[in-house]
Amino acid sequence: MPISFEPMYRTHHCNELRASNFGQEAKLAGWVDSRRDHGGVIFIDLRDREGLTQVVFRPEEFPEVAASAHTLRSEDVVQIVGKVALRLEGTQNPKLTTGEIEVVASSLNILNRSEVLPFPLDSEVGNEDLRLTHRYLDLRRPALVRNLKARHLAAKVTREYLDRHGYLEVETPILSKSTPEGAREFLVPNRLIPGHYYALSQSPQQYKQLLMVGGIERYFQIAKCFRDEDPRADRITELTQIDLEASFIEREDIIHLIEGLLREIFRATRGVDIQTPFVRLSYYDAMDRFGSDKPDLRFGIELVELGDVFRGSQFKVFRGALDAGGVVKGINAKGFAKITAGQIEDLTNLAKQSGARGLAFIKIEDGEWKSPIVKFFTESEKAALTQALGIAEGDLVLFGADRWEVVCTTLGRIRLKVADYLKLIQNTTDLKFLWVLDFPLLAFDPAENKWSAMHHPFTRPKREDLGFLDAGEYGKVRAEAYDVVLNGVEIGGGSIRIHEQDLQAKMFQVLGINAEQQQKLFGHLLQAFTFGAPPHGGIALGLDRLVMLIADTSNIREVIAFPKNSRGQDLMMDSPSKVTEKQLRELHIQNLK
Ligand code: ASP
Repeated sequence: MPISFEPMYRTHHCNELRASNFGQEAKLAGWVDSRRDHGGVIFIDLRDREGLTQVVFRPEEFPEVAASAHTLRSEDVVQIVGKVALRLEGTQNPKLTTGEIEVVASSLNILNRSEVLPFPLDSEVGNEDLRLTHRYLDLRRPALVRNLKARHLAAKVTREYLDRHGYLEVETPILSKSTPEGAREFLVPNRLIPGHYYALSQSPQQYKQLLMVGGIERYFQIAKCFRDEDPRADRITELTQIDLEASFIEREDIIHLIEGLLREIFRATRGVDIQTPFVRLSYYDAMDRFGSDKPDLRFGIELVELGDVFRGSQFKVFRGALDAGGVVKGINAKGFAKITAGQIEDLTNLAKQSGARGLAFIKIEDGEWKSPIVKFFTESEKAALTQALGIAEGDLVLFGADRWEVVCTTLGRIRLKVADYLKLIQNTTDLKFLWVLDFPLLAFDPAENKWSAMHHPFTRPKREDLGFLDAGEYGKVRAEAYDVVLNGVEIGGGSIRIHEQDLQAKMFQVLGINAEQQQKLFGHLLQAFTFGAPPHGGIALGLDRLVMLIADTSNIREVIAFPKNSRGQDLMMDSPSKVTEKQLRELHIQNLK
């Protein structure tokens, strides 16, 4: 992509000159990446955002310029003028796109000096907090520039694509209203109305639905969303979504639109053509076969149902689970009989953290089934198990026996950990996309003793399941909701919405929001739905996570220019910070600390 920089400062950027420019005069500006002194001749690698160019200062030709170059240190900012020369045979650098040439400097203008940096830019720095404190330096690393370019391209392609499909980019408020939608919100006190608070928008969900009531028909926004959740490796408090909503649309339209968008984004950023249509799995099948609602399909190790094998088993744990209406499932970690005692212990702990009571396993070694539970198995059970799991010498079989949810979740986590131990997903460039469909509408939260929305309260129940909603069989109601998953990471989710006032009110009721609270919290939406709200639906893709996968990094902060650290702090700005008593008084807030 040709980039033209301001000709006053430079004629070329540092990743531009080639052998074909031989003999031309060039003016370059940038940072001293490194300096080498070869018996009086000074070489510097000059760096700008685009790359590196070797600049050579020859004392015999330009003595004053070379003397000045002697004073240069890493990260000084300079401007040079010189002639493009071909590097001598044997001194070319094939790793550098400008590696065939060098610029022989005839002038050097030192624009600014740099102190020694708190950490080197050319090697890995383990201390992330140090990098984040000086993020403006960290950003000089080529890897971060590459990630920000990928992010820019993804956003650019998105805008162009959605524009082509008739979507209008509309901004919605960030200072919004506190409503129970899912995530914990950040509150912002209002100075003019004591005791009243805005909430930072956790997503433009209600606004985009109201845009549909407003007849906008197709909306999108690259939207900032704020969620006061505990940050994790791939979760942040301040995230960006590619958010969209459309009227007169069905699930298939959204799926088709998003597959096309992702195809264009991956073509632009990674230069690959991804396969469409994506695989589809129902939520039930995803859980049942892979133990996850965002399965990683880059490897097999599927969960296999073993109820028929063990229905009459002498082994109490299996038989007991089945008799109690639960399930027995197993996975075959092929070739992993050599698992260490420490790894077994880790897997057992993982199983317990997932709600299982323990983890039964069998190693198949030296033609023998090694496990304390094997003595309970009959020959025919062993034969049936061998057949069901394709067991062979060197395999490791792991079992779950409990309620369906517990078994699926446990073996799902074990499956991922085993793949990690066996390095099944290291060095793969596979991109395994899939849609997960037909999520349950509601999930029961035993801690709170109430039902909550799996996606959010505006998601439409499937028409064929409305009877279950009326009958109070909430666990059986499926939603018109869909998630898009890439390599085991949920990169987006959405749903067809409720657009009828009475159905929305009923949904709130099921969620334990009574009529009075409904008016207080969601009166605007319920009223809007009485004025001819069109059928509508939408989706939001997590831009940060998407770029994280495009850039092939597992740390989401690597794709954000100024991220908060894992404790939600901006170490560079030193935020959050204390404020003055006066500021608090103006906001009608008493400082209790
Ligand atoms: N607002 C939803 C979310 O942030 C996405 C959607 O339903 O469109 O998850």
